Amino acid sequence: MDPVLPPKTCTYNCVYCQLGDTVVKVSCRAEFKPRFRPQELRVELEDYVSRLGLEGFDVVTFSGSGEPTLNPDLPELIDVVREVCPGKPVAILTNSSTLLDDEVVDALRRLDHVEGKLDATVQEVFEQVNEPPEGLTVSDVVEGLRRIPKERLVVQVMAFKVEGSPANYGPEALRALAEAIARVKPTLVHLNTPTRPPRVKEVSPLSVDELACLARSLEESCGARVVHYRPPRLKGLRLGGEELLDVLKRRPLTLGDIALMVGGLEEASRIVGELAREGLVRIIVYRGALHYVA
Ligand code: SF4
Repeated sequence: MDPVLPPKTCTYNCVYCQLGDTVVKVSCRAEFKPRFRPQELRVELEDYVSRLGLEGFDVVTFSGSGEPTLNPDLPELIDVVREVCPGKPVAILTNSSTLLDDEVVDALRRLDHVEGKLDATVQEVFEQVNEPPEGLTVSDVVEGLRRIPKERLVVQVMAFKVEGSPANYGPEALRALAEAIARVKPTLVHLNTPTRPPRVKEVSPLSVDELACLARSLEESCGARVVHYRPPRLKGLRLGGEELLDVLKRRPLTLGDIALMVGGLEEASRIVGELAREGLVRIIVYRGALHYVA
């Protein structure tokens, strides 16, 4: 569920962001103008549930076209999900920039799962990687994460290279990151790497072996379990053309990714072909693979 909606609105402008440049850069929640209200979520969610059934998905996650905690209606949005999807876990992917705000933390404490971004804890690296708003420090971010109940908190680290060299996991950056994670004490660390075309073209991902090696070093020094990226399995989704278009507005996908969402390669080719004929999608090449974007 996307409580932000395009155009991308965020407090950050991460160099690896798959959504491209931040179109509306805000420094705090007060600057955010919500365009997605609880009644719209109710309609969208009821439609999903009527088509997929409650057994058709495992979890409802707030994420999307920017930072989801910017939406001031987050508490009401959570109420709607609890009502329409009883018994389903509710999660959020946040960039952790708003966690000194009591309203945000109160809302997040009602969720089953909070995944908070923490890419760098050396201020200079943080500014290079995430381009945070002026005045936001790594200690604000770490203190914010410490306010989330540990048993429901996963810290997400995006590790990547710039022009072939470690961007945020050189020896000093890694040591500082491990110390911060040890203070936050999350239940788990997700170590990811960019798998979609990044905002800045010099950014490149780590190989699975490199990720595994980095995960081991981080785990040894931070005291939390670290799991690294593996390709997702999207079970049983059957999106139609319009819904797929909506996803493609938010992230580029390969034909293989789309096949997982629409029920097979043949159907993926058919839908993408139709969307292309109507001029609604275009193709970009990233690391040798064709990606569709809207
Ligand atoms: S990766 Fe997330 S936090 Fe970073 S700019 Fe993109 S939407 Fe914002």
